[in-house]
Order: sequence, then structure tokens, then C-alpha cells
Amino acid sequence: MTVPLIRLLPPETPKPRHARIPFGRATRWVSSLENGQHPPAVSVFLTQRAFVRCCAHAGSDLENEVGGWLVGKWRADRRTGEQFIIVEATLPAPHTRHGSAYLTFTQDTQVALYDEMKERYPGKELVGWYHTHPRMGVFLSSYDTWLHGNFFPEHYQVALVIEPYSAAGGFFIRQPDGRLDPRQYYGFYELWQRNRRSVVHWRNLTPVTQPE
Ligand SMILES: [Zn+2]
Repeated sequence: MTVPLIRLLPPETPKPRHARIPFGRATRWVSSLENGQHPPAVSVFLTQRAFVRCCAHAGSDLENEVGGWLVGKWRADRRTGEQFIIVEATLPAPHTRHGSAYLTFTQDTQVALYDEMKERYPGKELVGWYHTHPRMGVFLSSYDTWLHGNFFPEHYQVALVIEPYSAAGGFFIRQPDGRLDPRQYYGFYELWQRNRRSVVHWRNLTPVTQPE
């Protein structure tokens, strides 16, 4: 099978800009699979708005897989150098081929999303993708892993899988050495917008209580 690849980033090795990591404005949600032994290459922050958008799309088709891009910022903390991404927007994918147990991003999908990102979110970066697994659980199939490696090859690009029936979800994030475990998913930092009232309803994640 020949699959055309599209370079979505300039060829030079990119470096993250510096910013302050927003721990103080976020609630950490953890999955039971996180044991602290495999810290991922980046921490993931998700704005409440992006979370709500993503879940609305995920719940819009309970028979077939749907998905799209995650758009935002890739940064390194000014003080510690810790890398993080902030998912600020989601772009539902057009021109996909999908069924009850698969989703394919075609070349038309990638081109359309790239154009839309440049137009609607100039200056923002492609930080990953999301898709749903209706009634299947939260994992990456071998095809998902292939797609992630080919279309989202940067170490800071993540894959979010949402199971809309059981209200569950998780992020697949590479290790610092580039490895990706298709069964081990992480929670994320819910970035507050107006107040601290959470919008996260996934039953497989638990909030960590932080000191005030
Ligand atoms: Zn999948």
C-alpha cells in the first residue's frame, strides 16, 4: 500500500519557545495507568473550551469513529525547561473514511485541515489529533499507531482517544526516547478559563487535589 506523506512542518529542527508552565491555573486529571515510572516527553494542558468542543464532536456520531486535529502551542517552561503543549482548539476532520471500528485521514483531510489551521489559527501549531472508539475502550490500534507515527511524528504531538459511550478518554504521549505504548494512556491538565468549575466528566480519570 502506498500512502502519500505530507510534510506539515518546516524541515529545520524546531525548538519550543519559552513560557511559564501554567500549573497554577489547572486541575490535573490522572489515569489509573499512570504510575510515575514513565513520565512522558510533554505535559498536556487542555483548555476547557477545547475539551467541550472535542466531546461534542465525539458524541455526535455514536456508530462510527470521528476525529480531527488538536491545535495549540508547544512550549518549554522558562525556569525548568519542562516541555508542555496547550491544546486550545480542535478541528473536526473532513474527507475521512470511517466505519464503526476505523478512521482514516486521507490526503484531502490533511490538506483541508492544514489550510483551515493556517487561516483560523495563524501562529498556532499542530500538537496532535483525536478520534473516537465507540464501545471499544481507550487504546491505540496498530493502524492508529501507524497513523500517529506517519502523520504526527514530532515528539510533542499526542493522540487523544475518546470512548463516548462510557465517557472515558486518554492521551497517548511519547516517552522522551520516542517510544509510544499503545495501551498506556495519560490524563491531562484541565486549564481553567473563567473559574475553577470543572467540565471534565470522563469516568476513567481522577482529579488530583492540589494545595491552594
Ligand atoms: Zn483508533
